[in-house]
Amino acid sequence: MKTIKNKTPGLDKNKQPINSHNKKNNNRQNDSVEKINNAGKLWQVTFDSIPDMISIQDKNFNFINVNKAFEKTFNINREELKGKKCYEVVHHSLCPVSNCPLAHTIKDNEQHTEIINEPRLNAYLEVTTSPFFDENGNLFGAVHVARDITGRIKTEEKLRANEENLKKHVDEKIEEIKKSSAYNRSLLEASIDPLVAIGQDGKITDVNKATEIVTQLTRKELIGTNFSSYFTEPEKAEEGYRKVFADGFVKDYPLTIRSKSGETIDVLYHASVYRDSSGKVQGVFAAARDITERKKADELIRLANAYNRNLLEVSLDPLVTINAGGKISDANKAAELATGVSREELIGSSFSSYFTEPEKAREGYQKALSEGYVVDYPLTILNKSGGTIDVIYNASVFRNDAGEIQGVFAAARDVTELRKAEERTKNYMKELERSNKELEQFAYVASHDLQEPLRMVSSYTQLLEQRYKDKMDSDAVDFINFAVDGANRMQILINSLLAYSRVGRKMGAFAIVDSHSLIGKALFNLNPIIEKSSAVITCEDLPEIYGDETQLIQLFQNLIGNAIKFCGEKRPLIHISVKDNFFEYVFIVNDNGIGIEPQYFERIFVIFQRLHSRSEYEGTGIGLAICKKIAENHNGKIWVESEPGKGSTFYISIPKQEPGI
Ligand code: ADP
Repeated sequence: MKTIKNKTPGLDKNKQPINSHNKKNNNRQNDSVEKINNAGKLWQVTFDSIPDMISIQDKNFNFINVNKAFEKTFNINREELKGKKCYEVVHHSLCPVSNCPLAHTIKDNEQHTEIINEPRLNAYLEVTTSPFFDENGNLFGAVHVARDITGRIKTEEKLRANEENLKKHVDEKIEEIKKSSAYNRSLLEASIDPLVAIGQDGKITDVNKATEIVTQLTRKELIGTNFSSYFTEPEKAEEGYRKVFADGFVKDYPLTIRSKSGETIDVLYHASVYRDSSGKVQGVFAAARDITERKKADELIRLANAYNRNLLEVSLDPLVTINAGGKISDANKAAELATGVSREELIGSSFSSYFTEPEKAREGYQKALSEGYVVDYPLTILNKSGGTIDVIYNASVFRNDAGEIQGVFAAARDVTELRKAEERTKNYMKELERSNKELEQFAYVASHDLQEPLRMVSSYTQLLEQRYKDKMDSDAVDFINFAVDGANRMQILINSLLAYSRVGRKMGAFAIVDSHSLIGKALFNLNPIIEKSSAVITCEDLPEIYGDETQLIQLFQNLIGNAIKFCGEKRPLIHISVKDNFFEYVFIVNDNGIGIEPQYFERIFVIFQRLHSRSEYEGTGIGLAICKKIAENHNGKIWVESEPGKGSTFYISIPKQEPGI
C-alpha cells in the first residue's frame, strides 16, 4: 500500500474553514451537512459528472455523500448509504481499526493517497483522501476520490512480469555467455598454438598460455605491448596485421618469433579480424603454428632429394622415369649423353623412340608395368648423331604413398664394352680351342711317330749289348745300359704323352653311368696293387651321372692308384664319398697318405710335374694332368686339400646336367 502524505493545498484547517458561519458546536453538525448537501445543484451535477468515485465521510466513518460513479461502481443508491459506515460498503481489510486512508487522515489531518485492492470490485483503486474541517478548524471528515487503476496496475504487473522474464532471460544469457566464454577461454588456453588478439593500434589485447611459453613472457607483460616487437622482422609482422585489417584475414603468413632469451621459432600465422555486435572491427585474432619441426623435416627432405638427385646425376648409367603412357617424365645427365638429347626435350617424349627397336623398348616398359620389373632387358640406344649404344635395362615400377603405380624407373647399363669383351673372349676361346687341338694333334702325331725310331734305337742298343757284350770293357757296357734305360724311359714318356693326347681326342658318347660301377671297374683294374698293399677302400652310396664311362674309370683309377702309391709306411685307407651341391655332384677321394704341401696344390695337375724322384715313387707325372682333363671334358673341376703327413682329399665336381643341355 502506497501512502503519499500531502498537506491539502488551500485547505489549511486554521485558515479556511468550510463554513465560517457555523462556529458554535458539534450539535449543529447536521445542519452543516444539510447546508453542504444543499450547496447547490450545480455542485451536485459537477460532483456526479466526475468519472472517479467520490465519497465523503465524517470522521466517524459515516457516509455523508457519494457521487454517481460511486453508486454505479458499488451498485448502491446514495440514499441507502445514509447511516452506514464506509467500511460496511467499501471493503477495507484494515478498517475500522486504524489503517485505512481515512484513518490516516483522521490521525494526522493530512491528505493521503493509497492504492488499495478492492476485492468486492476485483479492482485496484487509487484513493486520495483529503481532510476537511469545520468552522473551528476541527476535522470534520474526509473526501475520498477513488480512481480505478486496475488496467494500469495490470499493465504494470504485466510489464513487471515481462521485465522479470526479460531480466531472467538476460541473466540466463549472461550465465550462458559466461559459461561459453569460460569454455572458449579454456579452449584458447589449451591450444598448443600461440594465440593473440591485437587491437587497432597493433597492441596485444589478449594472449593464451602457448604465447607465454613461446615468448617466455607473462600475459601481464605481453598485454598492451606491440605485437610486432616479438618477431625477428617487426616490419613484416606489422605489415601482416595491417593486411588483416585491410583484407579481413591472412593465411600462412610466415614469421619468426624471438623469445625473451633470444630463441627463434618459425611460425605460420592465420589471422582474421573480429567484430562487435554492430559489425564494427574490434581487432585481429591471430593464431600461430610452430613449423620449426616441419621446416627441419622439409630441409631433410630437400637434402635427401638433392642427395638422391646428385646420385642420379653422377650415375654413369642412363636413368629415366617413364609414365604409364610411355612418356619420359625425368632423365639424368647420362641419359642426355646417351641419346644426345637435352633433358628438356627428353621429358615428355616417347621412351621407345630412342631405340633401334622401338617396339621392343615398348614391350620392355610394358612388361615392367605389368609384372613390376624387368631385369637385363637388352636394347640398343640410338644416339641423335646416329651412333648406337648397346645397353641392358633394369626397370621397376614406382608407386605413390597409396601404393598406386606412378610409372617405371629404368636404368640402362652400357654393355658395348662388355659385348666387345665377350666377343674377344669368344674369339680367344675359339683360338685356344684351335691351338689346343693343334697341340693335341701335334702331341699325338709326335708321340706316335717318335715311337718307331725310338723303338729302333732301343732294340739296336739292346742288340749291341747282347752281341758285343764280351768285346766291350765295363764302361762301354754301362754306357749301353744307360742308353737302353734312357730309351725305355723315353718310351714311357711318349706313351704317357700319347695317352694324355688321346684323352682330349677320343671322347666317347656321354651317357648315364652308375658311378658305383665306375669305381668297381677302376678297383678291378687296380686289383694287383690293392692286394699287394692290403689297401682298404670304402665307398658310400654314389649317384648316377652323365659322362664318358671310359674316361671316368680312368679318373678314379688314377686317383685311387695315387692314394695307394703315396701312402708312405701306412696301410692305405681310402674312402670315397659324394656331396650333392644342387647343380653338381662333388666326388671326394680321401686317403691317409703322405699328404701334399699347399704350395703344390696347383702344380701337381700340370703334365709331367712330380714332387718325388723315381727312386722314391714310380711314375711319370701324367696321372693328375689326365684327371684334370677328364674333369674339364665333363664341364667339371678337380682340386685338392691336404696337409703333409695327414693324408690328402681330392674333389671332383661333375655337373648333374648333361653337357650341352
Ligand atoms: P705320378 O703319380 O706319376 O707321379 P701324378 O700326376 O699322378 O703323377 O701325380 C703328380 C704328383 O702328385 C705325384 O708325383 C705326387 O707327388 C703327388 N700326388 C698325387 N697324388 C697324391 C696323393 N694321393 N698323396 C700324395 N701325393 C700325391
